Amino acid sequence: MSAPVVAIVGRANVGKSTLFNRIIGERLSIVEDVPGVTRDRLYAKGEWNGVKFDLIDTGGIEMDEEDEMGNLIRVQAQLAIDEADVILFLVDGRGGLSVQDEYVAEFLRRSKKPVVLGVNKLDHHSHHAQSYEFYSLGFGEPIPLSAEHGMGTGDVLDRVVELLPSYEEEAIDEDAIRIAFIGRPNVGKSSLVNRLLGENRVMVSDVAGTTRDAVDTPIIRDDQKYVLVDTAGVRRRGKVYESIEKYSVLRAVRAMERADVCFIVIDAERGIAEQDKRVAGYALDAGCAIAFLVNKWDAVDKDDKTAHRFEEEIRSHFPFMRWAPILFVSALTGQRVSRALTLARDIAENLVMRVQTSALNRVLADAQVSVAPPSTKGRKLKLYYGTQASVRPPTFIIFVNDQELSHFSYERYLENQLREAFGFQGTPIRIRMRTRS
Ligand code: GDP
Ligand code: GDP
Repeated sequence: MSAPVVAIVGRANVGKSTLFNRIIGERLSIVEDVPGVTRDRLYAKGEWNGVKFDLIDTGGIEMDEEDEMGNLIRVQAQLAIDEADVILFLVDGRGGLSVQDEYVAEFLRRSKKPVVLGVNKLDHHSHHAQSYEFYSLGFGEPIPLSAEHGMGTGDVLDRVVELLPSYEEEAIDEDAIRIAFIGRPNVGKSSLVNRLLGENRVMVSDVAGTTRDAVDTPIIRDDQKYVLVDTAGVRRRGKVYESIEKYSVLRAVRAMERADVCFIVIDAERGIAEQDKRVAGYALDAGCAIAFLVNKWDAVDKDDKTAHRFEEEIRSHFPFMRWAPILFVSALTGQRVSRALTLARDIAENLVMRVQTSALNRVLADAQVSVAPPSTKGRKLKLYYGTQASVRPPTFIIFVNDQELSHFSYERYLENQLREAFGFQGTPIRIRMRTRS
């Protein structure tokens, strides 16, 4: 089971994103400053008094089409109800109780999910009495806070954590390879999953589904166990917010975090879209092994260069993932779909590959000779030695004279050298420079 979810809801401008940022603090995601990778802050990991949870800012959900009044807030509330274990309902204590607050409250009451009511923008103790009028919403004692000044947020989190269901980190079956299918709506994710379920032995799972119906389905092929992660999310249809991009991204992120392998599914007919890049950015962040599945290959008019051209296109759109293999498949005909499982097995192996320290340091030494490390203001970066700190994904620490002298481009170069020497196909690798005085 993944960590419990807390969702912040409330009408516009009550301070949802301010509170969201305050709760997650300054923790930056790893790829946030990688050029070309866009992402939105809508979802992040939070922690309070040692209790971990996932936090969603439903205010980040937007809709393309203008709709009747109140529709957006209804969608946001519905999202919170569907995804969250505890709902943090935020209102504006200075603005006072509004019709929209009542509207949201009615929705939340019907859901029977636990709700914590926070009354924001009460920046001084003398304002706290303004929270009383919100008693009428029917969620017990309103908690006064100031997200901007960081006051009262601890009281809110105390209450939230109290209401969270207890959970144990999932006992991961180490022998199984966990696969998440991600991509835009209609690229064929559920068709691929259905095809795999149809062609392989599906094991009955005795793992209870969570409240968020994140059902994982184990299958067996050639004595290897695979788990298709969040098959319910992939196959579910017809909810009002299904087509809302950020929602599907959110769902995908949660699946990727529980996966060893992410298949980024691309529609061969429609090509690559902006959303695919965002999803790829999240996949990089999640640290799983990654491959592209170009689906609907049956529907494309092909000559001997078509696959090559498509490959070039993927490489140019995802320059930081040149190491991710590409497989052309068809869920419709079944072409190469079972190859995808073999591929998953191969790249999952690379995800946990360890290299010998001696071999690593030979590569680093050679790399320094071939391309000299950068200099800043007459000072040159010196690499002393490296060590592999962890796997999943492989992470290397390189001790240097001054980590401030390192450049993104030089780290990229070292990454390429490591890949050339050791393979690592299909897995991200991370390099950290540490000053050794
Ligand atoms: P959202 O639309 O609910 O996500 O609201 P935002 O977080 O964007 O905040 C809306 C406005 O309220 C911004 O101008 C914030 O600076 C302001 N704001 C948020 N929290 C507080 C607070 O605790 N006190 C005061 N005075 N202003 C706040
Ligand atoms: P999802 O939203 O990503 O889960 O996509 P679906 O699996 O629901 O597929 C969307 C549409 O594409 C459906 O009409 C499928 O029949 C069609 N489709 C899926 N895979 C293929 C394929 O390999 N070839 C063709 N021609 N159509 C496909």
